[in-house]
Amino acid sequence: MTLLWTIPDLIAATHGRPVGHMPAGIAGISIDSRSIGPGEAFFAIKGDRVDGHDFASLAHANGAVLLVVSEGKLPALGRLTAPMLVVDDVLQALTDLGCAARDRSAAKVIAVTGSVGKTTTKEMLRHSLSACGPVHASVASFNNHWGVPLTLARMPENTAYGVFEIGMNHADEIRPLAKMVRPHVAIVTTIAAAHLGNFASLEEIATAKAEIFEGLVPGGHALLNRDNAQFPVLEQAAKAAGVEHVHTFGADPSAEFKLIEYVAGAQGSVLWAAIGGQTLEIPMGAPGRHIAENAVAVLGAAHLAGADIENVMHALSTMQPEKGRGRRYRLAIDGGFLTLIDDSYNANPASMRAAIALLRDTVPGPGGRKIAVLGDMLEMGAFSEQVHAELAAPLAEAGIEDVWIGGPEMVALRDAIGETARVEYRDDAEGMRKFVLEAVRPGDVLVVKSSKSAEFSRVVSALLDKF
Ligand code: ATP
Ligand code: MG
Repeated sequence: MTLLWTIPDLIAATHGRPVGHMPAGIAGISIDSRSIGPGEAFFAIKGDRVDGHDFASLAHANGAVLLVVSEGKLPALGRLTAPMLVVDDVLQALTDLGCAARDRSAAKVIAVTGSVGKTTTKEMLRHSLSACGPVHASVASFNNHWGVPLTLARMPENTAYGVFEIGMNHADEIRPLAKMVRPHVAIVTTIAAAHLGNFASLEEIATAKAEIFEGLVPGGHALLNRDNAQFPVLEQAAKAAGVEHVHTFGADPSAEFKLIEYVAGAQGSVLWAAIGGQTLEIPMGAPGRHIAENAVAVLGAAHLAGADIENVMHALSTMQPEKGRGRRYRLAIDGGFLTLIDDSYNANPASMRAAIALLRDTVPGPGGRKIAVLGDMLEMGAFSEQVHAELAAPLAEAGIEDVWIGGPEMVALRDAIGETARVEYRDDAEGMRKFVLEAVRPGDVLVVKSSKSAEFSRVVSALLDKF
């Protein structure tokens, strides 16, 4: 078993006090007692809802070779005989270990932030850079005050490329995380209305995202979306942070890494991009103009990180969308087929528009309809009514005639749509689930999307179960 950390290195990084018979080292790190891998240590992190110390004995029973616990909780752990590393504060110990991982690493490190597309871009980097060397990347959206240190602490010593998602709900969150990650390349995917509840304007969001530049290594590269309206704010902030190398991607003629053209066809899509003086033609495994935009950012970052662009390009063309983020299904129904695009993982105004564009570019089967099945976008604060109503315009422009919507926030869209579409409204995901199962027909293409907690993923599961 390859060791991630030896015990002496673990102790040096965390200043922990070993108790009991220590293993040779640890092969991995877990913070979830239900999913301990072979040779892993369990870090008893205190989260919003639960305290890991309450699960320490379970973690031991499930095979954790070492428990990292806090001094203050020792009395409560009773007669637990597991090998332990006792620290003052477990999250701080994990953070210190993360910094030690970064210090010992020779990897090229890429950090990704932005309002939408962080995970999509991070997964595209993981997949494509894997064609160039060993990649270590964040799991899921592990992008916050515990997700980032955990990802860092898990980074193997032989990593060639480290890819980190960094997120935020409020100002001053990204700065310390970026300083931990110390990226060579920092990508800001796009600035858009997301988590608007905590911000007064898009400029404020851009300024908070720009904290990532403060973490760049000396001589590091900022990679900005030239097409985004907040580009000037980000460029200014990067310069103010002392970043010498500010690069751009996008369709704008002045973009350094340029999306020359994106063509969506019935059999897949193709993107043309100018990267480092070369014009590349890339057949895309994952459709959607927004994916093509992310791809140009990925190619730009890979170029800046010194990766082999040919390898990156070929890997990109074999990539499939993640579950819930645009994955397509062809389902048999009544002697024909329907196409389901599952984009139900999350939603905000920018990603709703991207999904509507994807539906516009998808060709239905004979007799089929293009149907937008949309649920509430949450965390929109005082802007909620407005941003829901404003979806009427992109739906009309895309020529989507069947709009099936549900949830209290979607009332605003229902009232805004007018005559351009046939609207079906249901109160919630459950109502929509029942309706959709009865209403779909052969040839239909559906895109299903809502914020996670509006649970339109239930519509997807129901369709996958039935057809
Ligand atoms: P979170 O804050 O939840 O971690 P995220 O920034 O990681 O979100 P993703 O999970 O990658 O975002 O994508 C969220 C949604 O946005 C998905 O529906 C995805 O298809 C869509 N999306 C991805 N990239 C873009 C983009 N460049 N522009 C618009 N929408 C995008
Ligand atoms: Mg994410």
